[in-house]
Parts: sequence; C-alpha cells; structure tokens
Amino acid sequence: MAQIIDGKAVSEQLKAEIGAAVLKLREETGVQAGLAVILVGEDPASQVYVKNKGISCKQCNINSIEHRLPADAKQEDLMALIDKLNNDPAIHGILCQLPLPKHLDENQVLLAIDPAKDVDGFHPMNVGKFMTLKKFSDMADAGVFLPCTPYGCIELLQRSGVKLDGANAVVIGRSNIVGKPVAMMLMSLNCTVTICHSRTKNLADVVRAADIVVAAIGSPEFVKGDWIGKGATVIDVGVNRISDPAAKSGTRLVGDVEYAAASENAAFITPVPGGVGPMTIAMLMKNTLMSAQRAANK
Ligand code: NAP
Repeated sequence: MAQIIDGKAVSEQLKAEIGAAVLKLREETGVQAGLAVILVGEDPASQVYVKNKGISCKQCNINSIEHRLPADAKQEDLMALIDKLNNDPAIHGILCQLPLPKHLDENQVLLAIDPAKDVDGFHPMNVGKFMTLKKFSDMADAGVFLPCTPYGCIELLQRSGVKLDGANAVVIGRSNIVGKPVAMMLMSLNCTVTICHSRTKNLADVVRAADIVVAAIGSPEFVKGDWIGKGATVIDVGVNRISDPAAKSGTRLVGDVEYAAASENAAFITPVPGGVGPMTIAMLMKNTLMSAQRAANK
C-alpha cells in the first residue's frame, strides 16, 4: 500500500517554519512581512478564500491587510489601489482574489501588480524569468515567484524524499495555473517530463511508464488505479465534488485519480482532500516571506 503524502501536516509544518522565519527577519532587520489581499464584490467562495488567507497570515506572523471594494467598483479605482500598494514599503505581496466581476479587466489587473510583489506568481515577468532559469535552486537569487499550487506539488515531492533526478514524470493537464508550470518545475529539477492533455493518444500507457504522475485535469477519478505503475508517486491536484448519498451533505470531494485502486500500486500518493489543497496557501505564505527577505536585503 502507498505511503500517504499528508499535505495538511506538511503545510502546518511549513507554516510553523515560515512563522519563525518572519519573526527572525523582523528581529534582525526590522522588516515586518505584509500581504495585501484585494477582494472585489461579495462572491461567497472568494470570501472564504480571503478569510482562510487571513488565518494563515496570522499563523505565519505576516501582517494581512484586506482591501474590500464593492461589486460595482470601477477599473480606475482598482488600478489606483494596486498602484498605492505597489509603492507601499510595508506591503511585500499583493494578491487580487479572482474571479473579478465581469465588467473588470483581470488581465490589466494582473499586469499592474509589481512583479516584485506578485506572490501569486502569475505576472508574465515571473513566468518568463522562471522559464529562463537553469536550475530550480536559482529561483531565490533570480527574484522569481513561482505559482503557489504547482510550487506546493514540488514541495510535497521534495519533503517526501521522492527521487526527482532522472525520474520520468507525466503531467496530465496543460493549464497555465497548474499543468504547464508544474511540468516546467519538474524539468528544472531534472525529471524527464511528458505533458499530456485531451488530445494525447494512449494516455493509460503513457501514465503506466511514469515514475511520477501529476494529475491536473478536473475530472473525477479519471486516472484509473491500474494505470499507476508499481512504486510510482501520484500527486493528485484535482478537486471534484461528486454526489454521495451516504455522506451527510449528500456530496464529497474526490481527486482526478482513483485513490483506493491507485494506492495499491503507488509508493506515495496524495489524498483529496488533504493533499495538494492545503499547500497552495502555505506556498503563498512562503512567497510573501521570500519577498520580505528580498526587500530587507535591498
Ligand atoms: P483546466 O484549466 O480545466 O485544465 C485541465 C487540463 O486537463 C487541460 O489541459 C485539459 O486538456 C486536460 N484534460 C481534460 N480532459 C482530459 C482528458 N480526457 N485527457 C487528458 N487530459 C485532459 O484545469 P486546472 O485549472 O488546471 O485545474 C485542474 C484541476 O486542479 C481542477 O480539478 C481544479 O479544481 C484543481 N485545482 C486545485 C488547486 C488546489 O488544490 N489548490 C488549484 C488549482 C486547480 P486540454 O488543454 O487539451 O483541454
């Protein structure tokens, strides 16, 4: 049976480490790490995400500053706020909670955030800088921010002691927020990477040859247990809600991988929930700490 990679435990451990490093930075340099979170409108899911980010900031001793704008906020108001935060030395990370109300231009907002404060790692400057890095470990010196969910997948692999050097990694999914960046990160860590998508032929056979499988599809239990090779590592990014009459709420969350069957073949596997999910916020905290450390070193 596979060893479970417990993302909840890893994220708690990581947040404790970040909390200590934030205090150390403040003691040694006087720099207090600060994260600004912008929420436009009243979207209930976004409100929950923003609340959870505030809780994690507290755990990590990071100052969390929330800016709430009404659902009918004008583009100019949002751009003016970002400009103000870009120029505020107490702010090391700026995050604009997506999706924005339809009348607002998301792309313009993401481009306006100073790449040195882009702790989400979505600014094209950060994406481009990462693409040109030779080694993953050059990331800190190069002043790059990596997107949080794929960065969390890498952190889970590294902390579980999974061998990456020379490993065959298969990434299913090629989105800009998960599939593509996680594939690039694995390649920069010396994996041989195959990126699969909806037009890939013989997907089951491609997956069977993998030492590491990262599933980022968004389709419940799409990857069958018998596709997973003996001793492979499975990182399941998918979060899918399915109906389950036996559950109290009538639904439950499952990943993109058939968890029970895959566990019989895999050496390591992430559960859903409690695998990759909790890592996203933890990596946001890590990026904010890194940004404050860079500001202190300037
Ligand atoms: P996305 O933008 O919809 O991309 C899905 C990818 O899966 C696409 O590249 C698509 O291929 C591929 N795909 C779809 N059907 C396929 C098939 N039959 N065979 C092979 N590939 C197929 O999704 P995403 O934003 O990357 O998210 C993926 C999953 O991760 C979702 O469940 C999402 O909720 C979850 N997620 C979790 C977190 C977290 O835990 N914090 C964060 C982000 C996302 P094409 O490009 O050919 O269409």
